[in-house]
Amino acid sequence: MRVTELRQRLQALGAQPLHLQRVLREWTHALPPDAHKRKNDDFLPLTLRDALPALRAELAGLATLREQHPGEDGSSRLLVGLHDGQAAEAVLLPRDGVCVSTQIGCAVGCAFCMTGTGGLVRQLGSAEIVAQVVLARTLRPVKKVVFMGMGEPAHNLDNVLEAIELLGTVGQIGHKNLVFSTVGDERAFEALPQGRVKPALALSLHTTKAALREQLLPRAPRIAPEELVERADAYGRLSGYPVQLQWTLLKGVNDGDDELDGIVRLLAGRRMVLNMIPYNSVPGLPFERPSWEAAADIARRLHRRGVLTKLRHSAGQDVDGGCGQLRARALDGVSV
Ligand code: SF4
Repeated sequence: MRVTELRQRLQALGAQPLHLQRVLREWTHALPPDAHKRKNDDFLPLTLRDALPALRAELAGLATLREQHPGEDGSSRLLVGLHDGQAAEAVLLPRDGVCVSTQIGCAVGCAFCMTGTGGLVRQLGSAEIVAQVVLARTLRPVKKVVFMGMGEPAHNLDNVLEAIELLGTVGQIGHKNLVFSTVGDERAFEALPQGRVKPALALSLHTTKAALREQLLPRAPRIAPEELVERADAYGRLSGYPVQLQWTLLKGVNDGDDELDGIVRLLAGRRMVLNMIPYNSVPGLPFERPSWEAAADIARRLHRRGVLTKLRHSAGQDVDGGCGQLRARALDGVSV
């Protein structure tokens, strides 16, 4: 279901803007149906009031909790059941964040990613994307939403932007706390500046070498790393939020001195943050995780050369490796 469709259905039931606001607020904030005093329901049109119980049940069925795997770092990996039997992954992050999926599977096919190995299965509707946040809000407060789970948000742009708009308005998530993540796509660079809600941007760069990037991200748009950084930085200046560059650190692949020189060259004078995340091994894939000490040394060296670098653990890595593994195991019928 799309949010636009939900709005249209509510309007067809007689909802005026104030009524729409009320129903969408109740949903996006995961408020129990009795959160509003009964007498306040009286101001809703009768047809809408009559239809609300079934509609609430339908919305609650958009994303249901199938499995929850708490990690030692305060995060918790969720396997989210969808209405058609498919499953998406979401992660409750420390400090009131949630990472949500935007697609089932992914067509980018990153060589180091479990989700990418199976290709795209289907798009998530904007209401299914919002529903993951609603589900998270039934478990803990949510003040930040990152679109970094399964899928490439730029490949499901209309639905992701619709979800962002709702979460950034009625859902009351601060715009800089909505983080649109992309491998870099012309359509996203064009659409993001037009939005009423302008999210923060995370660009998955992973290497400064165009040829290596084509190997690692085989079906990402062929845009040179220099141009990607420039396009992302232009949006960062417009939105006012520094762009985050994502770098999955692969031992012996993108952790050499040549890459460090490339990073310094590309980021010189820019207000960007480099997030380095040591790779979590995925069974069957040929990449290795560098030691934490080696990764920390790289981060220190970049810092000394003027690049704001943050070394991060992947959330919940003690529970499972990277995104896509909970779903893969569920499909195999293996319990984790
Ligand atoms: Fe898709 Fe992200 Fe996995 Fe790449 S890392 S295949 S963009 S889900």
